[in-house]
Amino acid sequence: MTSIDRLTRDLTCFENQDQLLNAPGGYRPTIQPRRDDRRYEVLADAYDIAQAARGDERRAYRNGGITHWFAPVASERLAGVKHGSGLASQWLKVIWEINRQAPDSIGEPWACYWAYGGWTEEYPRFRVILLGDENTSGETAEIQALDDDAATWLKRAAAKVRADREAEVKVGIARIRGGSQCLRCGHITATQMAAKKHFNAKHP
Ligand SMILES: [Zn+2]
Repeated sequence: MTSIDRLTRDLTCFENQDQLLNAPGGYRPTIQPRRDDRRYEVLADAYDIAQAARGDERRAYRNGGITHWFAPVASERLAGVKHGSGLASQWLKVIWEINRQAPDSIGEPWACYWAYGGWTEEYPRFRVILLGDENTSGETAEIQALDDDAATWLKRAAAKVRADREAEVKVGIARIRGGSQCLRCGHITATQMAAKKHFNAKHP
């Protein structure tokens, strides 16, 4: 059972999301986002996304007028590594860096589901989307900050990880006569740009 099923059971009279999506008689649920409980907004958005994805025109009623209390304040899109390679991706390093600044900010997600173009994980102050399908999920990721402090941590962490990576690439490439050489594997390229491309592809 995905955690959206659990949310559905906790917040509606349906047992799981499938039942909610397929309720007979054109039924549409009322799910009003609440400022003090983000679960309602996530459930309503997950419902709308799932219906749209299968071409169903039904959307949740949000009869209080306000549809989103928790729109992202900032977001960063970061490179990953080949699915299943076991290497640490840029986005994972950003998560580690955020947790160093604000311990346990991104630990155990309280909801996970397919939405927003990938596998989406909800944390109290962040949303992490591992972009792609089952086979490519996590090769790129988007991290969204949901409040101002989270935005500050995210921007700082992303800047640090990007700077660290640039420094790593720089010392990994040597200029040689007629081109550049990768110091990790010896591969020779004609230009510095090609060397960087090689380094990023082969030594993430
Ligand atoms: Zn190399």
